Amino acid sequence: MSKQQQSLFDDEPAEWEVDAQSQRLVATIVLGEGATGEYDYLVPDTLSDRGDYFLEVGRRVRVPFGRSNRKVVGYCVTLETKLVDAARLKLVAEVIDASALLSPAMLRLTRWMADYYLCKWGEVLEAVVPAGVRLLAGTRKVTLLSVPEDVRDTLGQLKLGSPQQRKALAHLAASERSLTTAQLADAVGCTAGPIKQLLKRGLIEAHEKRVRSSELDETIVERESPLVLNEDQQHALDAIDAALESGKPRGMVLFGVTGSGKTEVYLQAIERVVGYGRQAIVLVPEISLTPQTVRRFRARFDGVAVLHSHQSHVERHREWQRIARGDVQVVVGARSAVFAPTPNLGLIVMDEEHESSFKQDSAPRYHARDVAWQRAQAEGIPLVLGSATPSLESWYKTEQGEFARLDLPRRVSNRPLPDVLTVDLRDPAHTRFSRGAISRPLHQAMVAALRDEGQVILLLNRRGFATHVQCPACGYVAECPACDLSLTFHRQESILRCHYCDHHEPPPVNCPDCKSPAIRYGGMGTQKLEAEVRARFPEHTCERMDTDSMRKAGSHQRVLDKFCQGEIDILLGTQMIAKGLDFPNVTLVGVINADTALHLPDFRAGERTFQLVAQVAGRTGRGEKGGRVLVQTLSPEHMAIRAAVRHDFEMFAEEDLATRRQLCYPPFGSMIRILVRGPQEETAQAVAEGLTQRLRQETTGEEGVRIMGPAAAAIPKLRDHYRFQIQLQAPTLDPLRSAVTGATAKWKVPTGTFLAVDVDPWDMM
Ligand code: ADP
Ligand code: ZN
Ligand code: ZN
Repeated sequence: MSKQQQSLFDDEPAEWEVDAQSQRLVATIVLGEGATGEYDYLVPDTLSDRGDYFLEVGRRVRVPFGRSNRKVVGYCVTLETKLVDAARLKLVAEVIDASALLSPAMLRLTRWMADYYLCKWGEVLEAVVPAGVRLLAGTRKVTLLSVPEDVRDTLGQLKLGSPQQRKALAHLAASERSLTTAQLADAVGCTAGPIKQLLKRGLIEAHEKRVRSSELDETIVERESPLVLNEDQQHALDAIDAALESGKPRGMVLFGVTGSGKTEVYLQAIERVVGYGRQAIVLVPEISLTPQTVRRFRARFDGVAVLHSHQSHVERHREWQRIARGDVQVVVGARSAVFAPTPNLGLIVMDEEHESSFKQDSAPRYHARDVAWQRAQAEGIPLVLGSATPSLESWYKTEQGEFARLDLPRRVSNRPLPDVLTVDLRDPAHTRFSRGAISRPLHQAMVAALRDEGQVILLLNRRGFATHVQCPACGYVAECPACDLSLTFHRQESILRCHYCDHHEPPPVNCPDCKSPAIRYGGMGTQKLEAEVRARFPEHTCERMDTDSMRKAGSHQRVLDKFCQGEIDILLGTQMIAKGLDFPNVTLVGVINADTALHLPDFRAGERTFQLVAQVAGRTGRGEKGGRVLVQTLSPEHMAIRAAVRHDFEMFAEEDLATRRQLCYPPFGSMIRILVRGPQEETAQAVAEGLTQRLRQETTGEEGVRIMGPAAAAIPKLRDHYRFQIQLQAPTLDPLRSAVTGATAKWKVPTGTFLAVDVDPWDMM
């Protein structure tokens, strides 16, 4: 990104102009959208004043741009008095923000991101500042609940439908102010259901009010005191403490088996941070941002801000402002919370740091872990990465001594990890009496677990009913017309659906090719599994959890609440159920097919399989009854599965790292993936080929650089676009970055063709 001068005239300065230089206040502006680059503007005296809307670094401005001088929005990234030719510069038209949206440190961080991830600085700025903040979203209408006087007086004598109704009513009656439904539900840990019942019966009343969002105080949660740490937890805390006191950046991997009490360590470390008058950011995967997680933090700290993607602009804006004012002690949020504008950050924690949701899959394609480490280094603070199955990138850093390693090798109260057994699906003895997904051993284990009043979790990482619809006579397979993917049959809606685009169509009655009427619905999805479970265990309650059944807001929580209260015996679903749940009564976990991800063309396929099996296994054995895990697989001898069965992360890491070292895959080398796509196959391919050629030219003579492709992507066609990929590998990232910059600098991607440059890619499909 070169510094350019935006000039009023396109021609060279005339000689008489050379002397026209003077000392002026100049703002350098980066546009949020459109042109790349940095542009200098003069700051008029009116805006350099100390009024509300004076210009400072980190605020946005409106500036005239281009020949037409249309007004565009940009971010002021530097402000300095320097010698310029004033006649050649335009003036800043207007200052938009009454305070800076980005501190100088955050501006440096975004600049680093633009360089590292090879994207536009403006694009990063727009991603870092939430839309709600940019839109200055303001007030909103809320419905507030309270208990009428007469009800309050007779509280003791009321007959209520459920204990939850009683709890909710008592809580609201005792509350000093009105609460929203969400606040009340959150405070007593129930769903909206009991509250609606109370409203219906007139035991509580609702009124609407328009509030400035800042009036909406957060949920009030009963306070909890810290637990007494066990020896391992104390060691970990001491190490974090030492890092906090050192005032130096320190990366630390908290390697703790599932249920080892990692969260308690975070909580007590944050307590120290808050004690120093500083703030902490806790990053969690989007899916774990459940009320339970949030409640654990609210129960310990006064000012907790929550940031997630389902928030309205107003809520986002309000949380951002509170954080920026320093009113917040702890920020809990998904990926983008790493940008929270905390004035005096003391610690960043990333829980389940191996989760792929920390990598953004659209530009800027950043990984929150790497951004967090960058930020930690800039602010001189520790970064704690917690996981039972750390990413091999982080693990390798501990082996190199770059990050510290803190171990929690045992579960709290010395509960054993569950026994894990594999069921070899190739063995006919296991499947002889079963035409469905559940093998004989798994069926028997379910019978036993349910008989002892335990609960069961079944994991199947495919949604829908049948995952391929095929004609046995001619081999026809129903495929999406827009994507190179087979369609999944969804029984409830009786529809064939593409899981990548919006395409859906009615299932064929006869084979479209050979007219055979014998269409077969093969492959196992969660809906088919649900039908099988209901047929096998009619006397037990069963619930399915996948993106199809969880479309409505709050349904995720509702099912988990029911499961927690024992109203569901068997919970089945996709990876959604593999994470974070802590239910002591789960005594059996069944993995229906551990191999679904194992053979994907992705160097992390083994790692993902290991993580999934290890994480879902961690959902059981948390109570006194213990627990066990059955893993159905066609490849029980695969290293990822053998290691997961033995709860042996270190064995897995050692073997997988050895393979990666041989192939120069991350973390031993760097990788950039470029995806070229477009509606015409030939054009897209030609563009990819041209680009590859230029990349090769840029890297001739470079030691150790490998360029593979262009080749059709693993999913060669998606949403009517043909996709070609180029993969660049080298021992370090720098030569790759300069190659991509060099090859694309003076090159315009042909209209209709799209280019995605992914540094440190996660999605290899
Ligand atoms: P992890 O995050 O490692 O999976 P959690 O932090 O969720 O584990 O802890 C699992 C359970 O153990 C929680 O219910 C937590 O309250 C409890 N726990 C954690 N530390 C202790 C401790 N030192 N003493 C007693 N119980 C603890
Ligand atoms: Zn056919
Ligand atoms: Zn499709």
